[in-house]
Amino acid sequence: MRVRRAIAEMGEYSPPLEERGAPDLLLLDFSESTVPPSAPVLRAMQDYLASGKVRMYPAYGDLRAKLARYVGVRPEQLLLTNGSDSAIQLILGAVLETGDEVVLAKPYFSIIGLTAESLGAKLVCPPYRPDFGYPFEEVVAAVTPRTRAIVVISPNNPTGTSAGVEQVETLLRRFPKLAVFVDEAYFEFSGKTAVPLLAKYDNLVISRTFSKAMALAGLRFGYAVSNAEFIRQLHKLRIPYDVNSLAVVAAAASLDHPEPWQAYVREVMERAKPLVERFLDERRIPYVKSDCNFMLVKEAAPAAVCEYLRQRAILIRPQRQTPDYVRVSIGTVAEMQRFLQAYADYLDQAGRGTATSPASGRPARAASARTPA
Ligand code: PMP
Repeated sequence: MRVRRAIAEMGEYSPPLEERGAPDLLLLDFSESTVPPSAPVLRAMQDYLASGKVRMYPAYGDLRAKLARYVGVRPEQLLLTNGSDSAIQLILGAVLETGDEVVLAKPYFSIIGLTAESLGAKLVCPPYRPDFGYPFEEVVAAVTPRTRAIVVISPNNPTGTSAGVEQVETLLRRFPKLAVFVDEAYFEFSGKTAVPLLAKYDNLVISRTFSKAMALAGLRFGYAVSNAEFIRQLHKLRIPYDVNSLAVVAAAASLDHPEPWQAYVREVMERAKPLVERFLDERRIPYVKSDCNFMLVKEAAPAAVCEYLRQRAILIRPQRQTPDYVRVSIGTVAEMQRFLQAYADYLDQAGRGTATSPASGRPARAASARTPA
């Protein structure tokens, strides 16, 4: 069967999802939450299943109102979606025509590029700065009369770095006829958001997700926020019941009981990540300062370190777009201690041991006998 040319020509997204199911694996490869949803969220789902209401089509009104209070907008400004992947598809699907240009700094979260390509749009990709700062001037300079949208991923995956909210505002003001789409999948970690700009600019749309901080990646729940008119247009495009009712129940319970996931976010950002950074500083291993729950770590032999850690039941992710780096999710303090112990052992056996061991501050095993590389 013939498919549209844009589809035939686009690349494929094939994440390494196999072999992630073993119970004691430490999954630091997908920027997911490393802990399950809290007890009240699990209980709400169990109660819902027990009620048999799964026979009914899902209803979204209550959740939309609850989410509107969380986000700080009116319910009409929200579209609930099947993961934020689906929000990305709907937003770009609503604004892009074949031949339109989309400005998107690279490296970027690949689904965004693939979705734009599937619509026959052309990606224009100024590179991030050498320190992975957002290339604001280059993005502005990349806009042409054919540009239809600027996509800002903030914090970005895989860099973990953010664009400034004031930079987003400048784009909105400078290009009032373009759609400015901000992906805020990691908002709960960064705490930075363009949402207040919605009151001033009607060319802004934002996507977010419950897959990360709220630990609901498997249930697929995300949302788009924009002005009510644009959301009304997105509603026309969506499949009516693409957010399932169990996701609705879990998302509502996550908003009713924010303390557990907020405590997890604090542990990741205020304790676990600094622990990892201290270790990398001590070992003089370059890394990218991130605004969220993962970070790029520079590695001389990415495949070797990934394989070594895999043997130790820890998964991290090599990077196609930034091949000199591996991406490591940050989980709890205990999990990062487990990671750092294994990583220290890897460095030691690779002859790169130095200084002190991660968790204790004591000299690392066998490190003193080796020459740092
Ligand atoms: N945006 C970014 C930047 C991401 O990293 C991800 C997931 N890795 C998503 C969107 C999509 O997440 P989900 O579809 O689970 O909401």
